[in-house]
Amino acid sequence: MKVNYHSYQLPFRFPFTISRGTKTHQPTLLVELEHFGVKGYGEAPAITYYHITVEDMIRDIESRKMFIEKFAFTDPERYWHYLHHLIPGNPFLVCALDMAAWDLFGKLKNKPLYQLWGLDMSKKPVTDYTIGMDTIEKMVSKMKEKPWPVYKVKVGTANDIQMVRALRENTESVIRVDANAGWTLEEALQKIPQLKELGVELVEQPLPKENWEDMKILFERSPLPLIADESCVSEQDVDKCKGYFHGINIKLTKCSGITPARRMISRARELDLKIMIGCMNETTVGSSAMAHLSPLVDYLDMDGPLLLNEDIATGLEYADGNFSMAGGTGLCIRLMTPAQ
Ligand code: MG
Repeated sequence: MKVNYHSYQLPFRFPFTISRGTKTHQPTLLVELEHFGVKGYGEAPAITYYHITVEDMIRDIESRKMFIEKFAFTDPERYWHYLHHLIPGNPFLVCALDMAAWDLFGKLKNKPLYQLWGLDMSKKPVTDYTIGMDTIEKMVSKMKEKPWPVYKVKVGTANDIQMVRALRENTESVIRVDANAGWTLEEALQKIPQLKELGVELVEQPLPKENWEDMKILFERSPLPLIADESCVSEQDVDKCKGYFHGINIKLTKCSGITPARRMISRARELDLKIMIGCMNETTVGSSAMAHLSPLVDYLDMDGPLLLNEDIATGLEYADGNFSMAGGTGLCIRLMTPAQ
């Protein structure tokens, strides 16, 4: 196999603010694996919170290039195990390579991934559209600008309740909230019942990720389902969430790819946990990987291509919460700019 890569700085449509800060651009790395003249693509965005930059990913490719390339590729699951041990400190890069391996595998088998996995795409949930933090007026206007059946709203300020009330006065759509670890237990206990009154569907990551003790108390008292995001990063975290959260948000980039994500989905089902597939502002490349898995999950947060002002591939079309995929094999995408 041959590995190639290209990095991008993609502008957001609006500066994107959550409880941890604001950003105007999303750095991302596209990787390409070539085998028998067929090319597979995968993506990993850089996320400051997880301390992995595009430069770290490039450095790790360069230092292990010979090993990444010399694997006798038969199937993506075996390749993931190899990569997981080869690049232990960089799950983001492992994700991008695993995704490229799945794209390649589907292309070699001449099938789209969902078909390889025996999934029925008519069972997919709608995807939410995220509204980042801003003044209440601007959040209302961002929402009105994008009529959508499900909104995910970033919370974690003193006026969370007024803000959600203002949104609710202007929409009958489903509203879910994400505190990104920005509340204390007291705040959460006070706010969640009020959010339930406002018809909010669920709360993502109310408390700091290590605060399991308070999470247990909140889990027992919360009138709304609680979904782990920052508290559920990789495979070994799924079991920990049972009894503390009602569900988990699986993100390909943080858990290191499609291969572990599929195992996390199976384990979460065994534990009777709800499942969300979430994004980290991936382009159409990474979002397509989520799209193929979407019939397996309860909630879908796959709005990266809607939040970014530029994309690097085509193949996903969004309309009113639904999405459709282009025909094709593997991830079913077409690159707009060839990797260099
Ligand atoms: Mg989240």
